[in-house]
Amino acid sequence: MTPRPPKPSRSGGPRRPGKRPRPERRPTTGTASPPADSPGRAARQTTAYLRKLFAEVGFTIDARKGQNFLVDLNLLDLLERSAAIQPDDVVLEVGSGTAALTERLSRAAFRVVTAEIDPRLATLARDRLIDAENVTIVEGDVLARKHQLAPAVLDAITAAEADRQTAGRIERFLLVANLPYCVATPVISNLLMAHPFASATVTVQREMGERMIATAGSHSYNALSVWVGAQCRGEIVRILPPSAFWPRPKVDSAIVHLELDEVRRSCIENLPRFHDFVRDIFCHRRKVLRGVLIRMAGGKQLPGAVEKIDRLFADFSFERSIRAEAIDPDTFVRLEQAYNSG
Ligand code: SAM
Repeated sequence: MTPRPPKPSRSGGPRRPGKRPRPERRPTTGTASPPADSPGRAARQTTAYLRKLFAEVGFTIDARKGQNFLVDLNLLDLLERSAAIQPDDVVLEVGSGTAALTERLSRAAFRVVTAEIDPRLATLARDRLIDAENVTIVEGDVLARKHQLAPAVLDAITAAEADRQTAGRIERFLLVANLPYCVATPVISNLLMAHPFASATVTVQREMGERMIATAGSHSYNALSVWVGAQCRGEIVRILPPSAFWPRPKVDSAIVHLELDEVRRSCIENLPRFHDFVRDIFCHRRKVLRGVLIRMAGGKQLPGAVEKIDRLFADFSFERSIRAEAIDPDTFVRLEQAYNSG
């Protein structure tokens, strides 16, 4: 299916400068309205609540869009707490769903930008967030292409940050989301390239979470581990069983928290070049690094290629048999620089 182009829409009217709106909660009405489970309280996202809501509006779940809703409220609390959102933060959420998390983010943050690809869910989210003036819903794919965030999403973030700067506030941009599995890797990778977060607190497939924080030499270590590990400190906050979601996914998930390490990130001379270098090397992770680098440098036939790589190996005191998976992210940063300047 071809996604519709993203359309930003503010869920409410303009804000007064310097004043963060605290939306009042009120019971919702109409066919697309979420049923509140007690008067004056926002509805709690449980399986029963979602079943009822989806039956009312005739919504059928699209598994290809990673529509697994977080129904364990303690874990929703944990996700929010782990993000440690401050009142001046601008937060990006990917996958509004029925806006259960968005609503919490809206109460904690200065501004929230939330992207939702499914127009039926975007409608439900808009309805639930009718009073949340600090939320911008971008209806459409968060990605423009596999390797690019949708311009509408980046524009909405930039607009939210510009507002905050006008008010002379401290700048922090966070990613907080129950990420759809299909786009979790490109969203995190692209943000680190195009618009780095101060921190990311996300639920992802357990395997992907383990990759993001894997250290050199471990089973899960791959190109994503290097890309994330060279720029962030990370931890797995909690492993989540399938029962935390409805419908249940087939695999475990994890809440992962990443903190940007600006000093280490600034050591990367050229982000796109570093990204491609790591990706190209890990296409052959089982092969010895020397052979991979010689091929990347033009092959044995090219005069000087072997000598260039052997010089690098001597400078880094690498054994000839070393493989990419044994090299930690910081050494990768230095290796890439030396490779490209030699
Ligand atoms: N935030 C909700 C929650 O926590 O229950 C829903 C999370 S659910 C795992 C993922 C959501 O992302 C779904 O609503 C799905 O429609 C949406 N989604 C999937 N792919 C997307 C994409 N490429 N861009 C934006 N939203 C997407």
